[in-house]
Amino acid sequence: MNCCDGKPVIVLSSGDKLCKSHFTEYFERKVFKTIRKFDLIGKEENLGVALSGVKDSLTVLYTLSKLSKENPKLKINAIAIDEGIRNYRETTLRHAIHFCKKYDIKIDIFSYKEEFGATLDEMLKTLNVKPCTICGVFRRYLLNKKSRELKLTKLATGHNLDDECQSILMNQFRNDLASSARLGPKVGIIQNEKFVQRIKPLYLCTEKEITTYAFLNNLLDNFSECPNAVLSYRAQVRDMLNDMEQKSPGTKYSIVNSFLQILPILKQQFKAESIKSCKKCSEPCANDVCNACIYLDRLKKSI
Ligand code: SF4
Ligand code: ZN
Repeated sequence: MNCCDGKPVIVLSSGDKLCKSHFTEYFERKVFKTIRKFDLIGKEENLGVALSGVKDSLTVLYTLSKLSKENPKLKINAIAIDEGIRNYRETTLRHAIHFCKKYDIKIDIFSYKEEFGATLDEMLKTLNVKPCTICGVFRRYLLNKKSRELKLTKLATGHNLDDECQSILMNQFRNDLASSARLGPKVGIIQNEKFVQRIKPLYLCTEKEITTYAFLNNLLDNFSECPNAVLSYRAQVRDMLNDMEQKSPGTKYSIVNSFLQILPILKQQFKAESIKSCKKCSEPCANDVCNACIYLDRLKKSI
């Protein structure tokens, strides 16, 4: 069904066709409703936004900066990580810096090279690990540490409905319910002063909706995907889910909606898991030594 006489720019999984202005209204309302429904942002926040320079992170920053214009007590600070991925990250970071300059948003950039002594590309030459596994560990580590040092009250990420579906299924396939308990629009199981609360304002937006919104608002660029992405397990699950969604529209919503019903039970079940301080770096972790320090040790030994 068409929304009006305007030219449709998207067909939603419900089958509804929306024109540019109705889709923009629909998308922004959906993001703001998600924020209210899951109580993601308070009246006064020093909010960090993890910015990679690609569409999801630019979309979340763009929509949140609109919210911040209406509410001066909501301060926004972009935080970007330079993993050191040749022929990829330089371009997306340039785009991120340009975007922040245009919208007058403060941006802080931290690099693996400066913080850990090696770029991701250099680490991968030395360690025999899957790129996204090690990249994810260092990225989460740095984002949390730097957000805390910058005194950010929360950290918004560009994770969307597709990402969440993939994570839910990947955890199921690996029999890893403890990791699923940490998912949801508000990341984590228990609050801890060393963890800056991560939130996902695009939680209920599909990849397709975000791409359309980003295109309509000039947030898209001609970026290729991270060269390491194709090697990931996530990419296989993503392709499988896209195939399912094409055959049965609404599959992704069904997965996330049913997951949200069991999420409180999962969080309750894994509540007892304690958070320790890493013996080497004092950052919060589940075991005696955090994964970042374990990888850094392996890196030192193999150089
Ligand atoms: Fe890092 Fe993998 Fe993402 Fe590339 S795709 S930035 S290697 S997590
Ligand atoms: Zn550590």
